[in-house]
Amino acid sequence: MRPALLSSRRSLHFWPRVSVMNTKVLPVDITHFRFQAQPDDEFGVQNAKPVITKETDQTAILEAVRELKAGQAVGIPTETVYGLAANALQEDAVAKIFAAKNRPADNPLIVHVSSLDMLKTFMPDNTIPPVYLPIIKKLWPGPLTIILPSSPMIPSTVTCSQPTVAVRFPSHPVARALIDACGFPLAAPSANSSGKPSPTLASHVFHDLQGKIPLILDGGPCDVGVESTVLDALRTPPAILRPGGITYESLLSLPHMNKLQVYRKHFVDEALEQAPTTPGMKYRHYSPDAKVVLFEHSDKVSETTVHEVFETKWKSELAGFQKAGVTVRKVGVLQTTPEGEACHWEQVQSKDGVEYIEIQMGRRGHPEEVARGMFKGLRELDSRGVDLIFVQGIPELHEGMAVMNRLRKAASKIIDLGEL
Ligand code: AMP
Ligand code: MG
Repeated sequence: MRPALLSSRRSLHFWPRVSVMNTKVLPVDITHFRFQAQPDDEFGVQNAKPVITKETDQTAILEAVRELKAGQAVGIPTETVYGLAANALQEDAVAKIFAAKNRPADNPLIVHVSSLDMLKTFMPDNTIPPVYLPIIKKLWPGPLTIILPSSPMIPSTVTCSQPTVAVRFPSHPVARALIDACGFPLAAPSANSSGKPSPTLASHVFHDLQGKIPLILDGGPCDVGVESTVLDALRTPPAILRPGGITYESLLSLPHMNKLQVYRKHFVDEALEQAPTTPGMKYRHYSPDAKVVLFEHSDKVSETTVHEVFETKWKSELAGFQKAGVTVRKVGVLQTTPEGEACHWEQVQSKDGVEYIEIQMGRRGHPEEVARGMFKGLRELDSRGVDLIFVQGIPELHEGMAVMNRLRKAASKIIDLGEL
């Protein structure tokens, strides 16, 4: 009998089956964490030492440390979105992240540190490229990831065999104190099932990953709500590879950043386009189960007509679906709060056998609020079982650039309304 033909090429999507385990959720209170800056150190803030003032929080951190030291992946709060963390220096631990999320193996991970001293331990020659020092001093800890040269200490599964590694120093007190207590860096992508909207609450992580990871630390809602900005200052001119929590506008004014470009907005590069590290081209991203239709417009809009036009357009789009025979029972509308009106999270109405659930992400003109409410809104509408989600776009300014980047990837249809 001929031997069975075994392929040595493992499909990117098939990681070993994840064993079913009990997922514990432990609350942590961020008000019980303090950081003491190191005196006489130019980077005293970035080398600060954590102090946890309450025993229950110390115990929760120690429990997470125990799991991470045992090579497990743990859900943790960060200021951007919840992360799924594992020891970045251990290949087996990193594999658990890919397995739990069902993340494609060629999508590299960001390595999280809790001090510059920790970062130096895995930099070639223990040296951070000088171009980054003023940026680190100003923006770390915070929602900024920088591209650095990698080293043999970082497993190739983290970098996907690229010569570079992406590193972030999160400002969330729980993430900072946890990494410090581990004593090793943590690789951590967002703690959602691959392709789904990112989690901004511990309950989102539980929904996606229960039974697949042993522990989630619940530090409350994420403050930023979108992932970090990915900055590559090793290239000339420097480039934002992915817009995020730190805005293009705030980076521009920093040393060496006056020629800063945003990938796909200001330039496209064939090599980058092919690289697995380029965010969001190759894979489905941030998408709820419902079909998402995004209405975008030019940055110069008349704020007086923007809501009226959105309502008229989504209603006519809905009529088009119904005319084409699509059964629509529940419609989600994700929009901004008009300037001067009080923000309501949710409003439900029924008309002609269709239920309409309207959610407001945040006030128009406050893109940081919209960023905070966007993933939460997409997840909420999905959990309500809507068939369609109509989303109102916002100008691509400040945090609006990150918001529109995510919404475009979540959308299965984009309707450009031009200048309103
Ligand atoms: P996330 O999916 O939010 O965990 O973010 C990871 C993203 O960071 C990847 O999808 C890449 O876009 C980016 N990234 C990670 N490592 C690198 C790298 N070495 N070079 C460029 N981008 C990277
Ligand atoms: Mg992600």
